[in-house]
Amino acid sequence: MLSWIEAREKVLRGVEPLPDDAVPVAEALGRALAAPARARWAMPPFDNSAMDGFAVRAADVSGATPGAPVTLRVIGERMAGAWDATRLGPGEAVRIMTGAPLPEGADAVVPVEDTDFWDSETLRARRPRDAAEAARVAIRGAASPGVHVRRAGEAAAAGSVVLDPGHRIGGAETGLLLSTGVDTVRVHRVPRVAVLSTGDELVPPGETPGPGRIPDSNRPSLLAVLRRLGFGTVDLGLARDRVGDLESRIRNGLPGADFLLTSGGVSVGDLDLTRTVLERLGEVESYRVAVKPGKPQLFGRVQGVPVFGLPGNPVSSLVVFDQFVLPALKKMAGRRDLYPEAFTARLAEPVRRRPGRVEFLRVRLRVEDGEWVASRTGAQGSGVLASMVHADGYAILSGEAASLDAGTPVRCQRKGFE
Ligand code: AMP
Ligand code: MG
Repeated sequence: MLSWIEAREKVLRGVEPLPDDAVPVAEALGRALAAPARARWAMPPFDNSAMDGFAVRAADVSGATPGAPVTLRVIGERMAGAWDATRLGPGEAVRIMTGAPLPEGADAVVPVEDTDFWDSETLRARRPRDAAEAARVAIRGAASPGVHVRRAGEAAAAGSVVLDPGHRIGGAETGLLLSTGVDTVRVHRVPRVAVLSTGDELVPPGETPGPGRIPDSNRPSLLAVLRRLGFGTVDLGLARDRVGDLESRIRNGLPGADFLLTSGGVSVGDLDLTRTVLERLGEVESYRVAVKPGKPQLFGRVQGVPVFGLPGNPVSSLVVFDQFVLPALKKMAGRRDLYPEAFTARLAEPVRRRPGRVEFLRVRLRVEDGEWVASRTGAQGSGVLASMVHADGYAILSGEAASLDAGTPVRCQRKGFE
């Protein structure tokens, strides 16, 4: 029997990142960078104001207090987007708005709230005596050099790597790239995953099952999970437990797919034909893994396409997908962050288990008194999908203890999909 880690690495080793191409940033959402993205210019490109207020020389206002304000002469106004040759001399200030370039000679900004001037609420009641008075601002607080100034390049230096290879493009990434002049990126192709259900007992979703039959829920469930994760999908339908049906669906479906997921038929029942058929069509290995759920697994290649055989039980199929398949699909998509982080939580209630296999208990994860607490999501049967629906993640139970008390620290992981 393979360990959890060995089995996961076997699948990872069996796939490679898909080729990459150059695409506009706006179309790269959800795809992973194949090369570092470098800023074409500094961001911000110029020193600018972080506040609405007055650009000043810090040295001029170092002694300013509300009781003893320092008066400066206002020599101009800077709106965001403006650019002129104004140079601040001693005793001078420029009215400045957030985002406007800092004038030459200024090294700090005093927020408007810490000033009095002829436009401000406090003084509007009285008119200035003359133009000179109208152009004065009283600074009521000291400013140190650099205060309320956003320095050129503080968000990104020109030429610096803003995103590493393997990083997936999301909303913030889109903003960072475009703000630094990167409008085209090299990103990996995202795998198209074909999904095939198998089983004579299954009826297509939407049909009312006759006696002895149940709906094929795994295929729509897996297709939904895959779409939600941003992968491409190919629906190969529902195969009867017949060699011919399985074989033709697999053969026809593979050319359009980068990865094939089958559901059901991988254990040792008489009609577990998925295994038989895949073994015949390609190089596929069946093996057992010391985990619960997911003991019998199947992985290999058919017509050059990686194939993984998921168990038929609905909960098992999602847990095995999450633990063993998802990291491999992320690798194919060019991602470097393949696993969810593990952290420690305390069991909310006692748990009994049979030692020997690593168990993925579905749990709700909450913080109580500053600590993570994991509580099981009801009955854990491999057909009880509610246990998965209500789970935030898994408590990963290993070791030899057959009973774990409430409060026992256990390793946990978030679910990799919704
Ligand atoms: P199998 O692995 O084919 O032996 O199936 C194991 C269990 O999972 C059986 O109870 C099947 O009825 C159930 N099952 C298999 N495939 C599906 C599916 N696509 N949707 C829902 N249940 C399934
Ligand atoms: Mg079956």
